Amino acid sequence: MLFASVLQGLSRLFTLGFLPLILLASSCTLFFLYPQLISSTFTRLPWLPAICLGIAALIAWQFGRSRLVWLSLVLFFILQTIEPHWPASDSLIFARSSFILVMLGWLMLDIDRGFSLRNLIYSFLILGCAGLVAVWLLPLVTAAPMVQQYVVMPSTSWLFTLLPRFYQWYTPSDVMLILISATIACIMLVIRLTNSQVILVLSWLACLVLLAVAEQTLNQVMVCTLAVIIAYAVIRDSFFMAYKDELTGIPSRRALMQKVDTLGRKYTLVMSDIDHFKKFNDTYGHDVGDEVLKLVASKLSKVSGGGQAFRFGGEEFVLLFANKTPEQVLPHIEAIRCLIADYDIALRSQPRPAKKPGGKPQIAAKNKIVNVTSSFGVAQKSKLYRDFNAVMKQADIALYAAKKAGRNCVKVSK
Ligand code: GH3
Ligand code: MG
Ligand code: MG
Repeated sequence: MLFASVLQGLSRLFTLGFLPLILLASSCTLFFLYPQLISSTFTRLPWLPAICLGIAALIAWQFGRSRLVWLSLVLFFILQTIEPHWPASDSLIFARSSFILVMLGWLMLDIDRGFSLRNLIYSFLILGCAGLVAVWLLPLVTAAPMVQQYVVMPSTSWLFTLLPRFYQWYTPSDVMLILISATIACIMLVIRLTNSQVILVLSWLACLVLLAVAEQTLNQVMVCTLAVIIAYAVIRDSFFMAYKDELTGIPSRRALMQKVDTLGRKYTLVMSDIDHFKKFNDTYGHDVGDEVLKLVASKLSKVSGGGQAFRFGGEEFVLLFANKTPEQVLPHIEAIRCLIADYDIALRSQPRPAKKPGGKPQIAAKNKIVNVTSSFGVAQKSKLYRDFNAVMKQADIALYAAKKAGRNCVKVSK
């Protein structure tokens, strides 16, 4: 069970992080392969990274991804505070890296709070605190001999022994902040494996490189790439939100309507509806009903014969078979009908409390095995029914016939 969820988490991490990682690696490779070309591009277009960041921040702001907006600002800060723009005294360099690491640690730990006045005040307070920690508190605390001897040195020296070059890249206080933010990154990836989280962790990794290599062109290349990644992540998320059903995770009605435009001259459409689902909800509760909807959706999405499942609404689903006739799809529909009907659903939830005080408690769902069935109506595009809505109507009529025939069966439109 644990192994399965670890595997699932890793595969999700791979899905979310693969393309952004490839983009980052490619831009770094390009920089090392063609330094002259990249450098001359940014000499001609010095404003390019800022424009990219601005666009990324605007997209993130539009979709309420406040953490990605703040990330864009941190990246802008990195760009603006790199030599030769900046008077690089030792203490300012120290404060700069601390500020960046504290801000990234906070962004990984926090949630997207949106942009209400209250949340903006909260975010500016955090920004102020990060500045205070970086410029005043951290130098003060880490300079204390006791802290140096008992905290900073023991916690960082092993890393410097392991990788002596770390001395050239980071100060011991940086390393402490890196270790803390690495812990935050790992824990948060386990607790909250979302697209934004993966982008934040990748940006944190990229920033570690940028802090170590104070090379202006590399900074510009990586910041541009990160801006593209931020914009890509937000657009990808909103696309999935619009086209995936939130409860079941399968494509939504909107996705079905989009798919309709791509259908050829021949297709078969199947409408499926769970039988007596209202009664099921009334007996076992809406939450258990939701779990069953997820289960039925996952079974339907595994339909063979080239069918694609969509949640049409409520407990109704549509299966779409491009270039297939009803005769060709019937065996696959029968197979999925049996799969759903034969699946034993173990109810583990607690019994629902009585609705009225003193009323009879509803059926104890604990350790109970139940089954649900579905009815199916099949229709195909024909000379008579060319329009998608007309085909849907025919499938609906066939579904009604299946319900009238006693449910848990498949009927084909005449
Ligand atoms: P029939 O066999 O004729 O289809 O009967 P039915 O009870 O399934 O049909 P009806 O259309 O009367 O009821 C549909 C029910 O589906 C009503 C509602 O409680 C339930 N339902 C719709 N959407 C959801 C949902 O998202 N979650 C849960 N848990 N139930 C839902
Ligand atoms: Mg219904
Ligand atoms: Mg129903």
